[in-house]
Amino acid sequence: MKQVYFYDEGDGKNKKLLGGKGAGLCEMTKLKLPVPPGFTITTEVCRKYYENNKKLPKTLMVDVKKNIAKIEKRTGKKWNSKTNPLLVSVRSGAAISMPGMMDTILNLGLNDQTVLGLEEKSQNPRFAWDSYRRFIQLFGKVVFGVDDKKFDDVLNAAKKKQNVQVDSDLNEESLREVVEQYKQICDKHTGRKFPTDPTEQVELAIKAVFGSWMGERAIVYREKNNITKDIADGTAVNIVSMAFGNMGNDCATGVVFTRNPGDGSRQIYGEYLINAQGEDVVAGVRTGKQVNEMKKDLPESYKQLTKTCERLEKHYKEPQDIEFTIEQGKFYLLQTRNAKMNASGMIKTSVDMVKEKLIDKNRAITRLQAEQLEQLLHKRIDPKEIKNHTQLAKGIAASPGAASGIAVLDVKRATAMGENGAKVILIREETKPEDVPAFFESVGILTSRGGKTSHAAVVARGMGKPCIVGCSDLKIDLENKQCSVDGKVVREGEVITIDGSTGSVYIGDIPTIEPKVTSEFKQVLEWAQKAKKIGIRANADTPEGAKLAREFGGQGIGLCRTERMFNGSDRINLFVEMIMAENIEERNKILTKLGQLQKSDFIEILQAMEGYEVTIRLLDPPLHEFLPNPEELAEKIRKLELQNATEELNKAKTVLKRARELAEVNPMMGHRGVRVGITYPEIYEMQIRAVFEALVELTKKKVKAHPQIMIPQISSIAELNHIKKIYDSIKKEMETKHKMKLKINFGTMIEVVRAALTANELASTAEFFSFGTNDLTQGTFSFSREDVEGKFLPEYIEKEILERNPFQSIDVNGVGSLIKIGIAGGRGIRPNMEIGICGEHGGDPNSIKFCHGAGLSYVSASPHRIPIAIVAAAQAAI
Ligand code: ADP
Ligand code: MG
Ligand code: MG
Repeated sequence: MKQVYFYDEGDGKNKKLLGGKGAGLCEMTKLKLPVPPGFTITTEVCRKYYENNKKLPKTLMVDVKKNIAKIEKRTGKKWNSKTNPLLVSVRSGAAISMPGMMDTILNLGLNDQTVLGLEEKSQNPRFAWDSYRRFIQLFGKVVFGVDDKKFDDVLNAAKKKQNVQVDSDLNEESLREVVEQYKQICDKHTGRKFPTDPTEQVELAIKAVFGSWMGERAIVYREKNNITKDIADGTAVNIVSMAFGNMGNDCATGVVFTRNPGDGSRQIYGEYLINAQGEDVVAGVRTGKQVNEMKKDLPESYKQLTKTCERLEKHYKEPQDIEFTIEQGKFYLLQTRNAKMNASGMIKTSVDMVKEKLIDKNRAITRLQAEQLEQLLHKRIDPKEIKNHTQLAKGIAASPGAASGIAVLDVKRATAMGENGAKVILIREETKPEDVPAFFESVGILTSRGGKTSHAAVVARGMGKPCIVGCSDLKIDLENKQCSVDGKVVREGEVITIDGSTGSVYIGDIPTIEPKVTSEFKQVLEWAQKAKKIGIRANADTPEGAKLAREFGGQGIGLCRTERMFNGSDRINLFVEMIMAENIEERNKILTKLGQLQKSDFIEILQAMEGYEVTIRLLDPPLHEFLPNPEELAEKIRKLELQNATEELNKAKTVLKRARELAEVNPMMGHRGVRVGITYPEIYEMQIRAVFEALVELTKKKVKAHPQIMIPQISSIAELNHIKKIYDSIKKEMETKHKMKLKINFGTMIEVVRAALTANELASTAEFFSFGTNDLTQGTFSFSREDVEGKFLPEYIEKEILERNPFQSIDVNGVGSLIKIGIAGGRGIRPNMEIGICGEHGGDPNSIKFCHGAGLSYVSASPHRIPIAIVAAAQAAI
């Protein structure tokens, strides 16, 4: 096993072995860029170190010495020399960059003798002693674990004594004193003499860098960023000959991005410091200067910097984030990596680099992280404002975007206040379909329970409203109209701000930034539209949703949930009356009214989606979901009894009776979907008729409407045929009455396991399929999707029983197999059958990749996720 690679030996692509920093230094050396000579000890050695109980492999120091000799040869400097000493840095560097998480030591190789050599050679005693004090401080901190503050105190005292503001003004004499005191601090801390032998120093430093891999900071960082062992396992160590940025005013050190990471614009962006070293810029010891000032400070070096940036971009075909040092006018590169940028920066650079012919359109799409684009589609909290506000709690980020509004804990009050124009944030333990009117009237939703696929989350996403769920620290006290977290109380009526992209809840009103779809974003979406194979449709239940979906590039509606329409505040009462109707005549009367409302909804939606398919799903939830919660109703009855309000009391009592009749132990597997359609055929009849009437009206107006009717919860062909008969007779009736042919495809959801397994039978009647992957996942795992996230799922993921939440990202092996069976069954009968998926997975990049591979016709996602879906679909196709 080769333990050490000199920079001209290593494979610059092998970040796993050499770490990102090491690989970059190797690559740049091969490009003949000015990298100081050095070498990398591999991440494999780090793993060995831990396997061996924190001992270095026996032969490692032999290899290290050989490579140091190589550096000596290249630099002409000598290890431990009293005349021209070689100094090095010892730097960490894992496969994934973990900025600031691990340790680096600079100027290693100094002792009381070599410092004199450095003084002599450079003819610059101040520089020699400045390097020495820096070395002792870093070595003391990293190897011995001395608290930085002790060193800082000494340095500050020295500045005071000499009466200067910044460390670069400290003179040689002061620095000598600082060095003496620094050594004493270390000796006192360790009880041993500070190591003087450079080889011992380097060995201790290597161990310390390996040690920093398992340091608490690094462990937490890896956990937070999901950096698992297969991504990065151990750190490499880089030993690099020093380039001195602290030798005088013709020296400097800096950190720059080759393009502005904030907006992607093409300008070198970053800071530098004259007469400084290493972390000075980042640590804010002195305020850095903007890099464009270098033009006049160090014009030659600035030219080199610009040239180098261009060279690196040409090579990596990505904007870079680099570290450099200028030693007496000579320019050195110390690090490069792909620049991390926000979404707008990524989009802008994608478009610019295509224009510059640096990359092609495919690369412009594949380099994006689809998920990150979400930032561009929603309001965001102004990052500059966050620090002025207290974070109250953190929940699960369920529907992105930020909103400020008045906290309201009651659905009725929220609805009323919203209708009166107030900006309301609805706060509930959890929500139910009957709460949906309040969603329409609120600017954001916050719940203390539930996960990403809970009712509140799904509805809010569909409406594009910010939502946080599962905020379990939040205690809701309905009685006193307030909620609290650890004693911090928010009363109803006070203003809070929620950030549905991060899950953070803040007290007070925080200004937000509006989203904007820039011309560059449109350009990228256009390229992605062309590259993708699978169709992208929207889950939309309102004309606004349909319009938004089209704006974002959606082509059709894959799921229009009709029950959402009954939840509008002007119709929920009508729907409840319908459920309460005592006989069929009465029910039909109300249904006629509801039919009129549905028809006008369909007309608007179909019009907004002119030219594209709109798949309308008939009523799906169980009826009791539209009635008030029995417990709350019983409570209300108790109050009414005290008030002697007879009429209202009687009404409440009948509703309660009906609610109890309809209540089920297991409603998600209960009397819902097609089962309601079969037992209350008048409801489905009304809906089917409304779709036909909408089509008639639009056809007369020459609007190209393409409605399709879809039946939920089908488990057998007999169910489907039963509804098909109703459909056929209404179709015939309508065609005769209006004397025109009316084409409305009739299809089924595949969301019950049995439906997937008998898809070939269903295809004899169904003209299209749409996989309802939420219910299908629920059925495949027997996991209640309303409950799992708050209960065992997090632990399942932590214990690696499940890799990820199957309700967010499709379970390829299980649910995916059912989908494949369903597709084979359907297309076996109808070769060109349209088969799509609707459900939360339609907006998830990994699931989209699966759907593309499985040969689905389209995925359907909530309007705000459409651009993400388009990009993900293109990535899958490229
Ligand atoms: P990090 O990964 O935290 O950025 P680095 O290993 O890159 O740590 O080093 C910290 C700082 O020291 C950086 O500013 C880097 O440029 C500087 N540095 C590291 N090695 C050298 C060297 N041989 N000569 C000059 N500066 C160096
Ligand atoms: Mg660095
Ligand atoms: Mg379903």
